Amino acid sequence: MSINMAALLAEAERLADSGSAGGAKKGFIDNFVKTPEKGGMVVVRLLGPAAGQDLPFIATKVHKINGRNVHCRCELSNSRWTGDCPICDYYKYLYKERDTAVRLNNTAKAESLETEARDIKGVERYYYNAVVRGKDPEDGDPNPCGQSEADGPLIFSSNQTIHKKVLRAFAGDKQAKVKAIGNVTDETTGRDLRIVKKFKPGNKWAEYDDSDWTTPAPAGTPDQVKGWKSKLHDLTTLRKVPTWDESDHELRIHLKLEEDTGPKTGFDPSKYTKVDDHVVLSEASHAVNSHVEAAPKDELLDKDSFEAAMAAIDGIK
Ligand SMILES: [Zn+2]
Repeated sequence: MSINMAALLAEAERLADSGSAGGAKKGFIDNFVKTPEKGGMVVVRLLGPAAGQDLPFIATKVHKINGRNVHCRCELSNSRWTGDCPICDYYKYLYKERDTAVRLNNTAKAESLETEARDIKGVERYYYNAVVRGKDPEDGDPNPCGQSEADGPLIFSSNQTIHKKVLRAFAGDKQAKVKAIGNVTDETTGRDLRIVKKFKPGNKWAEYDDSDWTTPAPAGTPDQVKGWKSKLHDLTTLRKVPTWDESDHELRIHLKLEEDTGPKTGFDPSKYTKVDDHVVLSEASHAVNSHVEAAPKDELLDKDSFEAAMAAIDGIK
């Protein structure tokens, strides 16, 4: 099977029409693959795109600004984020100013500009449908977060490190002399991904470099696979792109040119503080995103808490 990298990297327009798994009422955050707070291993099987779709993931970038998570207006196409995003424009401007300050030997100003730029930088996220292994297929260790195949398709929110591993698996990497290993999402010949999360001493960010693929094996029994395919999450709902005016408004608030009248709180953050490492209390307490569309209230709040959680994912710098 040949993979068109341009297509692979392009934004999927729409993935499966879905509903999440039924059963007991769960928080929105329960739809996500969890990783152990203090590091450890979790095995997942990334699932392929739904019928008619051509990518197993969606890509987005999120700006943390004014205590909110604002999706970047840029689109990923041919490995580049391009588009008309006022926050990205300002980010680039800050770096230009920083370079000027460096040339003038104004170190303090350069550092201050760089800090401001980093604060509003868009952070990439990649969402996949995935099934979590209740046990490691090779050593039989139970999933440390208690999730399993019985949870059905969950959403795996990938950082750039792991996303690159997925792309490398599909397409290889000529520069690094790494051969492609094929379609890891294939239901019969694909592979599981062992997510290895580690913290280096003194480093608050987890590292995922040792994550790797297991040997090829079917994703599950034919009945399991059929069931999972019928319950794929609609990943496109995770990306809420603001209008240019909304994005501009957030930037103007950040620059203190406009007053911030937007909502900042609205749910109990303590509910999510121990869910997993994806959640940071200080972010969660400012979680309501002004760009959410009309939705049932519970769901809306849950999605906002998700946004807060996503902004706190470690391993992304
Ligand atoms: Zn942007």
